[in-house]
This record gives sequence, C-alpha cells and structure tokens, in this order.
Amino acid sequence: MNRELICRLIRQVDSQRIRDNLFYLSKDPLPYRKLNYTSAGHEKCSLYEADDFLEEQLTSFGYRFEREAVAVQAVRCDPSKPKAHQYSPPLPEDPWYTAFNLYARKTGCASPEEIIVVVSHKDSQSWVDSPGANDNAVGTVGNLEIARLLAEVPTKRSFCFLFCNEEHSPWTSVAAANNAKERGDNIVAVFNLDGLGAKSREDQDAGRKTHVTAFSMPEGERLACMVGEVNDRYSIGLEHSPYQRPHPNDDDGSFVKAGYPAAVLMIGSFPYADPNYHCETDTPEYTDLQNVTMSVQLGLASALTVDEAGAP
Ligand SMILES: [Zn+2]
Repeated sequence: MNRELICRLIRQVDSQRIRDNLFYLSKDPLPYRKLNYTSAGHEKCSLYEADDFLEEQLTSFGYRFEREAVAVQAVRCDPSKPKAHQYSPPLPEDPWYTAFNLYARKTGCASPEEIIVVVSHKDSQSWVDSPGANDNAVGTVGNLEIARLLAEVPTKRSFCFLFCNEEHSPWTSVAAANNAKERGDNIVAVFNLDGLGAKSREDQDAGRKTHVTAFSMPEGERLACMVGEVNDRYSIGLEHSPYQRPHPNDDDGSFVKAGYPAAVLMIGSFPYADPNYHCETDTPEYTDLQNVTMSVQLGLASALTVDEAGAP
C-alpha cells in the first residue's frame, strides 16, 4: 500500500453517499434504530431494518458477513436526570431482545493473522426517541464507507468491520471483544468511530473541523499520535487532538478490557460537546457533513497506515 494509493482512496471518500446513508438511517425511512420501536405497518423493529440495510450493503461489496446474537434489554428513562444522562439500568422484569453484532471480514495477503478492527455502534438510544444522527449514524456510515473503499483493495493484514450496539444494555461490543479474545484473535488496532464531527454549537458555528482521538493505554496513545501524523501527512486538514481518557470506556474500552490495548475512540469532541447529545434533536440536518467526511478520510488513512507498517 503505497502513499499514492492511500491518497487516491482518500479522494474517493464520497460525501454524497455518506449523506444519503446518514439520512436513510436517521430520518427516512428509518426514524430510529432500536429494538423497542417498530414503524407503523412494518414487521421488523427499526434496528433490525438497519441491520438488513447494512447486511445488504456489506455483502454487495463482497465481504464475508456474519451476525452474532446477543441478549439485551432496552435502557430505562429517568426524566429526573439532566437530558443527556436520562438513562438508567433496565430492571430484571423488563423484556429481553436479541441484538446482533454485524461483522464484515476480509483476509490479509501478507499477515492475515493480524486483524485491524473498525467498530461503530449502529443503534440509537433505546430510552428516548432520538434519531441518533451524530450518535451514531455518522460512525456507522463512516465505517460502511471505509469498508466500501477497502473492499477491492488487497491489504496485508485482515480487516474486520464491526457494527455493534451501545445504546441498549449490555453493550454488545463486550461480547464481540471477549469472543475475539477467546478465539485467540490477534487484533493489532481498534478504531471506534463514534460522533464524528460532533462538537459544541460554538465550534460548529465557527466552521471548525475537529477530530479527537481518545485513548486509555500506552498502545492507544501511540495509535493516537500516529493518527495525528496521518492527518498532517495527507493534508486532511482536521484540527486533531489526542486525548487521554481516565479509564477505558465505550466500544474501544470493551476491547481494552478484553486485552486489546491498542484501541482508540475517533470522535468530533471530547468531552463530547454536541448540544443535541441524547436528545430528540440529534437529527441529520445538524450533522457537519464536511467534518464527517474528513474524519472518515482520516480513519481510512490511519487504518491503511497500520496495515502498511503494523501497529505503532
Ligand atoms: Zn455513541
């Protein structure tokens, strides 16, 4: 994978396709992506409809596709808490559902035992009627776009594109990471795409194009530094900041806790400053599409840099 090929692939990141998929998953035809919401007259819940859309796309790109079933509950809503944090744990008597981790895999040609994971949670908030555009239809469509562009490209290492669920309980990335460890998978890097381009109203109004790469372990810190170098090397133009999280968390944290420390969160701001966080107003019209596109370019180039040279 030479530099020119990475440059060519960066230019092929398709903003219009990202936009179309974003609106598909967070407005029309899917208002939400949750197990406890089924559109009137539909047979499947909105999260299963999103799963079917992703399966159709990923298989059309030529990937080996798998589903992994995980039992989950919807999260309870506690209106006494501040709006962004109105979730509270489900109770034992609440209904159980089957959620699916979706996997699209390709095998590397030189070091197939080394696996690069790109993960994003595809579900919207189960306790509130939020379209979850920034959280996290953007990461979902970003992951899909990276998968599309890598489908035809031979890579040295194996790739796993994972679409999980983090707005139901428990997070299904925990099962994904623990099962990978049990199988003995050699995961060399994890890129968690969540909230790409999402930031404070002030930063959005100022037109800033921001990207934070958050890590919790030294291996993640090296990966975050590499992401910053990739942003410069390929003139992607994001304001990039590495950020040390106090503890592993989110879907990257599930991998860290399972024994895969080279895991980072790619996000528009951290601490997360989106004014629509976990609100009904997290709609795709508010998404900074140009920022998302640049962050997808950075994710793609970073994953390919690890593929070329190994984990930093
Ligand atoms: Zn999220």
